Amino acid sequence: EVPAIGSPARTQAILNRYHLSAKKSLGQNFLTDLNILTGIVDAAEITKQDNVIEIGPGIGSLTEQLAKRANKVVAYELDQNLLPVLDDTLHQYDNVKIINQDILKANLPATIENQFGDGKPVKVVANLPYYITTPIILNLLKGPVDFTNIVVMMQKEVADRLCAKPGVKAYSSLSVIVQYLHQVNVAMMVSRKSFIPAPKVDSAIVTLTSYEHRDVTAFNDKSFMGFVRGCFAHRRKTLWNNLQGVFGKQPEAKQQIKAGLAQMQLDPGVRPERLTVTDFVNLANTYHQIGI
Ligand code: SAM
Repeated sequence: EVPAIGSPARTQAILNRYHLSAKKSLGQNFLTDLNILTGIVDAAEITKQDNVIEIGPGIGSLTEQLAKRANKVVAYELDQNLLPVLDDTLHQYDNVKIINQDILKANLPATIENQFGDGKPVKVVANLPYYITTPIILNLLKGPVDFTNIVVMMQKEVADRLCAKPGVKAYSSLSVIVQYLHQVNVAMMVSRKSFIPAPKVDSAIVTLTSYEHRDVTAFNDKSFMGFVRGCFAHRRKTLWNNLQGVFGKQPEAKQQIKAGLAQMQLDPGVRPERLTVTDFVNLANTYHQIGI
């Protein structure tokens, strides 16, 4: 029997055979640890009832494990040189479709309709290209597709930011925005030694799940995200200072900023990193009501 694509020996053989050297510029680090590969598939709870979108199949290590468990896998790979490799390594799986496109330019609703079209749950599973982790995640979370869950590997530092709670250094506008949109959890930590070539940082597998019930809802998601970014523009400065960056320094604006803080019983001298996600939503909604 042929060993799994993600076994160290087979990965090395594939790289040699196709004279491939991992492209740093495309974030190519290939996973060579079967426990991690199956761990990702387990974390996403993939069954034959699920369709999967994969981002960056590389030489097909994760794709193979997904194909064994899912109904169908559609994988976006930007690197044209990997297409003949994937054709070869995945030839025995008839439920895999590779699309040679930049995931950031993909029309996911159209792909889901054309490639799946069966109404089964759609999950996203990927060992992400790390140089575009944040834009990929924000794109997936902002919709329009409502994925059943998203399970992605990323560098540990970014995972820390996504999960960070108020008051810690890693807590940022990204933490607030992502936690507002989805529930975030770390499923597993992954050593840099599990890849060929080894990246400079360790990694984490993160699960993003939509909320069944939200405590608070922003009046408009896009404006809310802009508001949160503005509140964190100068994280060492006070909320009062940052809010003037958001709404302006004119006397009337200042008056309204103060009124909103008072209504929320927030100290103007507080730093943005102290506010919870719920605080940010309530504050944004308060200013929306005030009409600023
Ligand atoms: N899935 C493989 C694995 O786990 O071993 C490879 C993961 S590697 C970290 C990231 C992959 O994403 C590479 O194959 C790279 O070519 C691909 N990639 C990079 N930028 C991309 C983009 N904008 N759209 C789609 N794929 C991309």
